[in-house]
Amino acid sequence: MIIVMQRQASEVDIAAVEAKIRSHGLDVHISRGIERTLIGAVGDERKLDPAMFDPMPGVEHSMHIVKPYKVVAREWHPGSTVVDVGGVPIGGSVVQVIAGPCSVETAEQMAAAAAGVAAGGARLMRGGAFKPRTSPYAFQGKGVDGLRLLKNAAAGQKLPVVTELMDARMLDSFLAWGVDVIQIGTRNMQNFDLLKAVGQVTVPVILKRGMSATINEWLMAAEYIAAGGNHNIIFCERGIRTFETAYRNVLDVTAIPVLKKETHLPVIVDPSHAGGKAWMVPALSLAAVAAGADGLLVEIHPSPKDAWCDADQALTPGEFAQLMDALRAVARAVGRDL
Ligand code: PEP
Ligand code: MN
Repeated sequence: MIIVMQRQASEVDIAAVEAKIRSHGLDVHISRGIERTLIGAVGDERKLDPAMFDPMPGVEHSMHIVKPYKVVAREWHPGSTVVDVGGVPIGGSVVQVIAGPCSVETAEQMAAAAAGVAAGGARLMRGGAFKPRTSPYAFQGKGVDGLRLLKNAAAGQKLPVVTELMDARMLDSFLAWGVDVIQIGTRNMQNFDLLKAVGQVTVPVILKRGMSATINEWLMAAEYIAAGGNHNIIFCERGIRTFETAYRNVLDVTAIPVLKKETHLPVIVDPSHAGGKAWMVPALSLAAVAAGADGLLVEIHPSPKDAWCDADQALTPGEFAQLMDALRAVARAVGRDL
C-alpha cells in the first residue's frame, strides 16, 4: 500500500498516517522526495484499505500497488515524470541528448569535446573521471581532477554534466564539484550500498541497466534509490549480454516500451556501449528514438583514434552533428522535438 501525500502535507499529517499504519501492525517506509512524500505500508496489506487514508488531512491518494517496485511504478503515477537537470527537462516532449567522451583526458580534449557537444545541439555533456575497466592495468580515469576538467569544459558551453560514480566514498567530491547527474554504471547496478548512498541526495541519477540484469531487477535497483528519497532517476538501456558475439552488446530495444509502461520515470539509451562501434551508433540511436526513448547518451571524441578509452565507438563532432540532424526527423515523426 502506498499513500501519496499532497505537496503541502505537514509533518503532523505524515505522522498521523504513519500512526494509523502502525496501529494495524504494519511497518512504515517513508520516502521524502523534493516534490512529495510517499508513505509505504510494509506487511500484511489486506488489513488496509484506501478508504482508511484518503479522507485524512494531507493525503492526495492511496492505493494498493501490486508490483514489487512501488515508488518507481507507473501504477500510482500515470503521468510521465520529467526530471530537471539544471534547467534541462528529461522525460518531456523534447528528446535530450547527452554527449561527450568516454573518459576525461586533458583540458584541450575536453574543450574540443564540449564545443562538439554544443555545436551538435546537445544540452548535456558526459565524461568519465572514474572508469570501471576490465583490466586493472588499463587507464582508470583522472579521478577528482577529472571532475574539475569536466566541469570547466562544460561550463564554457553552459552544459550540465553527467559522470559515473563507482564508490560511495567519492560522493562528497561529486557534490562539491557540482556534478549535475550521477551515473551508476552497468557493473554497479546492483551495488546496493552505492544505490542507497545516491538515494540520500537530490542529484538526479542515471541508472544503467546491468549487462545481465532483467527488467525486474533493474526496476528494483531503481527502487533502492527511490526508497531513500531520491526520486530523480533516469533509466539507461546500454545493451545486454546474449549468445551473440558479433557486437559488444545487444541493444534491447524491447526494453524501451516495456520500461515506459512499467515506470513513470524517463528512459534513455546508450547506443555507444551497445554496439561498440561508431558506425553502428546512428542506426541504434534512430531505433531508440523511434521506440520512444526520452534521450540518448552518446560517446563523441575530438579525435576518436586517439581516445584513451573506447576509441572504436566514439563519433567525431562532425558525425555527431549529422546524427543530430537525422534524429530530429525521427523525433518529429514520433511527435517529439529534439
Ligand atoms: C560509460 O558510460 O562510460 C560506461 C562505462 O558505461 P557502462 O557502465 O554502460 O559500461
Ligand atoms: Mn565508454
